[in-house]
Amino acid sequence: MRWTEVGDGVFARRYEHLDQTLGLVVGRERCLVVDTGGDEVQGAEFAAAIRAVTTLPWLVVLTHAHFDHHFGTKPFLPCPVWAHERCAAAMGADRETWAQTFQREHKHELAQRLLEAELVRPTHVLTDEVTLDLGGRKATLLHPGRGHTDHDVAVHVPDAEVVFAGDLVEQGAPPEIGHAAEWPRALDRLLALRPGTVVPGHGEPVDTAFVRRQRDELTRS
Ligand SMILES: [Zn+2]
Repeated sequence: MRWTEVGDGVFARRYEHLDQTLGLVVGRERCLVVDTGGDEVQGAEFAAAIRAVTTLPWLVVLTHAHFDHHFGTKPFLPCPVWAHERCAAAMGADRETWAQTFQREHKHELAQRLLEAELVRPTHVLTDEVTLDLGGRKATLLHPGRGHTDHDVAVHVPDAEVVFAGDLVEQGAPPEIGHAAEWPRALDRLLALRPGTVVPGHGEPVDTAFVRRQRDELTRS
């Protein structure tokens, strides 16, 4: 695990497992945690790593309902948990399948952790977008339309020109097909924010040229 500072007070934390990337935006009064990982052990590790960066109170935003993005939420409680309004209904649907996958791969501890993790539902939901004041800095949570899922949420930090894209952008692996016909339009909305850096849900932070290429590949598929 390691931190990458992608902007002033804006961080990506990289994990070898699933090549996952979690995020942190530090304001003057609060910090925003972008996804919490796939189980409570990972969530607790991430929470402790954030505490080494800042002692500010945190809010959590979940980019979507896939298990690896939200089953680590429990160690962050109590705190506000933001997600798209369609996220809660989709949460937990992939738990059994992934537990079986881990069993097959002889990753029994990961399977057990996933099965034992508490499903924490969002306390706050958005439909289109909402701007959060972190103290001296704003972060906008936005649903750019359907793409990887029907409830993807991206996080825009305008003063750092950073966008956390969740799995709408994947580096190191082709994007997992969700709503392919609408996905390019969702990426266009992210590109219209003119970010300098886009942090994917898996893989290394990328630039807009990478996102444009991914949009073009999705358009052709
Ligand atoms: Zn996903």
